[in-house]
Amino acid sequence: MFDHDHLDLLTAALGRLEEGFASLPSVEATPTEPSVSPEALSGALHAVAERLQDNFPYPHPLYAGQMLKPPHPVARLAYALTQWLNPNNHALDGGRATSAMEKEAVAALASLFGWKVHLGHLCGGGTLANLEALWVARELHPGRVVLASDQAHYTHRRVCGVLGVPFRTVASDDRGRLDLEALEKELARGDVGTVVVSLGTTGLGAVDPLEDVLRRARAREVRVHLDAAYGGFFTLAAGLGEDARRAFDAAREADSIVIDPHKHGLQPYGCGCVLFRDPAVGRVYRHESPYTYFSSEALHLGEISLECSRPGAAAAALWATQRVLPYVPGGAFAASLDSCLDTARRLHQALEVRPGFIPLMAPELDIVVWAVAAGTASEASRLAARVFREAAAEDLHLALTTVPRSPATDALRDMGWDRDEVTCLRSCLMKPEHGRWLEAILTRLDRAFAVVQEAGERA
Ligand SMILES: *Cc1c(COP(=O)(O)O)cnc(C)c1O
Repeated sequence: MFDHDHLDLLTAALGRLEEGFASLPSVEATPTEPSVSPEALSGALHAVAERLQDNFPYPHPLYAGQMLKPPHPVARLAYALTQWLNPNNHALDGGRATSAMEKEAVAALASLFGWKVHLGHLCGGGTLANLEALWVARELHPGRVVLASDQAHYTHRRVCGVLGVPFRTVASDDRGRLDLEALEKELARGDVGTVVVSLGTTGLGAVDPLEDVLRRARAREVRVHLDAAYGGFFTLAAGLGEDARRAFDAAREADSIVIDPHKHGLQPYGCGCVLFRDPAVGRVYRHESPYTYFSSEALHLGEISLECSRPGAAAAALWATQRVLPYVPGGAFAASLDSCLDTARRLHQALEVRPGFIPLMAPELDIVVWAVAAGTASEASRLAARVFREAAAEDLHLALTTVPRSPATDALRDMGWDRDEVTCLRSCLMKPEHGRWLEAILTRLDRAFAVVQEAGERA
């Protein structure tokens, strides 16, 4: 986290940045307009601090709910430092240095998947990155269908709606992965242009069988788009299971990849990335915007982006993070991902031996989903919501997720299915510190469950 010593580092770096502009006439006498008194500034900041207290404690290891990971201090500091200039990477004139940094940082992301040549850029997040990849897919295969599994991120359907692209879902298997037989049937209809493959689904952390999908798609000249917004960085982990490893190793064969540095890449929000294997897709973007580009010589990232204004600070933050934590197998960054994998497996094992809980499946990445044992789906759902609340009272923050009755709920086959879905508990163990806190997490979870059980017995 950001701490007080870090603010001294920031002050020193700011001095260094200002040296580069020292020859300009001083603006000391004309403070930034409209001017605001220090008291008013302080008042506003304290008011923000108070408002922010109404939050779950996201940076704390006892927050183990939704997909939230604190940015690294170096990312926060580089972002804040860059705000002195507030560059805009829409064009070279708006963000010369940060555009160069963006190219380097994006090349590092592409290298995760073995791509030496690529086309890509940063953007607001995974949704926008997917929109862009599916827009290019539409331009290359106009009128043809986009397929994604029923576990794929919900925004794919929405994005296809925006693009006016026909969209169909494919069933998933008992591990929440895209089902190959179901895919084969869809492909056989002959109208498919693109298959979306998730390397790490958002709900269950499932890794689709990319290698098999690629083989089937290639036979029919269908594009393969990888949604690795959440899972992409795990390609660096040493401890992936065999199937997940195979899928990640096949990523280099995909046509496009989305990866979110603001998920597992230690960045503040507002940092997604889209990558294309074939730089020639750049022709799809060709546009004329004379007032933006008239004085820029080189091809720059603004020319291959759907968004116009983009924060140069996001590029600087990612670039700085990669400098201290490079993407190398066996490095500190890779080790931190392995630590998350390991913690998720340990939580899964701990849940398996607790009769009150039923994990849906062994985790492939760092998401664990489990049901509360009960006679019916309604009762299990009600109990999960109660455990969620009691855990929060113990300062342990989990998440709830509703899973439709499907092969993914096979572990609950003996339950009475009085409705078509069941609410489960879910934990994203995205912080390396979760490893050291797992015992504390389990102690609180057990206490919460005991409270719920006692209340049930009294009732
Ligand atoms: C988070 C996520 C998205 C959406 O990305 P945002 O950055 O939230 O817009 C898309 N796909 C997957 C697999 C995700 O996990």
